[in-house]
Amino acid sequence: MRFEDLAGYSGQAVALIGGTFDPIHYGHMLLAERAREQYELDLVVFVPNRLSPLKENDDVAAAEHRYAMVELAVADNSCFAVCRDELDRPGPSYSIQTIRALRRILPVAVRILFVTGADAILELPEWHEPEAILEEAQVVAAARPGFNLDSLDSILGESRAGKIDILPMPALGISSTDIRERVSRGQNIRYLTPPAVIHHICEHGLYGARQPAAPDIAKQ
Ligand code: ATP
Ligand code: MG
Repeated sequence: MRFEDLAGYSGQAVALIGGTFDPIHYGHMLLAERAREQYELDLVVFVPNRLSPLKENDDVAAAEHRYAMVELAVADNSCFAVCRDELDRPGPSYSIQTIRALRRILPVAVRILFVTGADAILELPEWHEPEAILEEAQVVAAARPGFNLDSLDSILGESRAGKIDILPMPALGISSTDIRERVSRGQNIRYLTPPAVIHHICEHGLYGARQPAAPDIAKQ
């Protein structure tokens, strides 16, 4: 989808989850689901980035694969969608530009939530225009193993930290990095990401997946 599809949106709020999604996994999906539940949302939009300003992008899978995998993962959930806007915008993907692009489309009364995991929010000072992000969206952060949200105050300062909502969520030690490493070692990734995503990885030989698909990777 494109943000322009949301012109005239009649819900109360829309949540965005930005990321590289290389690949999408159940950590992202539970984060989205807990945000949907907590804020009684009708729509959570995954926004795969083109270039992360804070990551080495050399080894990132092609944008179209990352987008396709998110699309496959969310296909059976009418409350979840995936947006192309960052992929189609040249240059690094700054979240504030994405939030503003959505703001320009949505009716004024619709709130924008920006949902992150603990690792991402602790990097907020390095983001482009962090104050503006906190002003223009309700930023939400959830636990992630290895990252301590109790340090939010000391790392971000009380004024910034006070604007961030903490989203209760069981800490899930799933990461795209681990999935890529497991695939490259020929290990299975069952129960870390939906079957359709596993199938896409195998079919296209992503992350060094062996062709034809190694049976223990593809088997469901
Ligand atoms: P990588 O290992 O390549 O960095 P990742 O698993 O961290 O991948 P990203 O695409 O970088 O996934 O993350 C997108 C967003 O989802 C970030 O806000 C991140 O904090 C959040 N997120 C990712 N995995 C989890 C998880 N297991 N629990 C909570 N939040 C998560
Ligand atoms: Mg990450």
